[in-house]
Amino acid sequence: MSQEAINQALSTVKYPGFSRDIVSFGLVRSVDFKAGRATVSISVTTNDHSVAAKIRDDVEAAVTALDEVEEIEVNVSVNTGKKTPAPTAGPSSPGKSPLESIKNVIAIASGKGGVGKSTFSANLACALQDLDRSKKVGLLDCDIYGPSIPLMMGINRRPEIEGESIVPLENHGVKIMSMGFLIDEETPVIWRGPMIQKTIQQFIHNVIWGELDTLLIDLPPGTGDAQLSLVQTIPLSGALIITTPQTAATQVARRGAKMLEKTNVPILGIAENMSYIEYPDGSRNAIFGEGGGQSTADELSTELLGQIPLDPSIREGGDSGIPLTKSSPDSSSAKAFLSIAEKLMSKLS
Ligand code: ADP
Repeated sequence: MSQEAINQALSTVKYPGFSRDIVSFGLVRSVDFKAGRATVSISVTTNDHSVAAKIRDDVEAAVTALDEVEEIEVNVSVNTGKKTPAPTAGPSSPGKSPLESIKNVIAIASGKGGVGKSTFSANLACALQDLDRSKKVGLLDCDIYGPSIPLMMGINRRPEIEGESIVPLENHGVKIMSMGFLIDEETPVIWRGPMIQKTIQQFIHNVIWGELDTLLIDLPPGTGDAQLSLVQTIPLSGALIITTPQTAATQVARRGAKMLEKTNVPILGIAENMSYIEYPDGSRNAIFGEGGGQSTADELSTELLGQIPLDPSIREGGDSGIPLTKSSPDSSSAKAFLSIAEKLMSKLS
């Protein structure tokens, strides 16, 4: 019997609570078959031991159902989501993880596209850097469908390669890595789950971040492959959910947040973007409605960390490559980002 037959059986095993299988998510480390005995090694990142146990049981059931398998050994290595991986039973890559030198890894997520997630990430990165200049901040743009961080952070070069690794670029005091550096702007990319998984893993493991206090990860919108790939690849300190106040955005944001919760990623809070327009006389118009951020926070038992106005200077900052928190840190819109940055840091400390 071929290993292929075992792989086939393994591809029927779903990650608990998700519709994707463990093979396409790259959780299977090795498969061996000799004289009726199958040995399968799995590596999974989770704090929830029931997830690892369920995967082990399902793998056992799927593989022993194959006619020629008389005996099976399943080694599940569990990375607990803390910075030091648990001892592994199966083969694993030796050496120091590049992420050991990063204190906090925060995913910036939204359900819907176009809610301002990348704009928020760029401004938050600059705000965090401004809060404490001695701290090192990184920004990883995993928005594979529309990587806009290079434009928003004013970078139009490509990173250098050192050996097998990529050296992040730096601007506004923030280390930056983006899918946009690697793909051809003119060629649309059609991403399938396994490609997303592989790209995210490469981004995480092959970028020389050096010592960082905080790495922000701008996730693609949605609740699917990229999110699950990420949580399997890297222990996250938590996630920040971006939404606009309107129901269409908050509903999807909640779904996204619940997906992250299922994988034991703490939700650090909600940031509401495009909350209102402020006119020169100080009056406000909530053109996308009101209360969506707060009700999302309530439903997820977390905190609304702040509201960012709809402000042309925020858009202009993105288009010109100098986020508003960098160009006009004293403006009221920049202060809204700074206040969120402060709350976030106090949550993490
Ligand atoms: P996402 O990453 O969620 O797809 P973007 O950050 O690309 O969204 O933002 C979508 C558009 O909205 C961009 O043109 C951006 O400049 C603009 N935008 C985002 N937030 C604001 C804001 N608070 N005020 C004004 N324009 C904004």
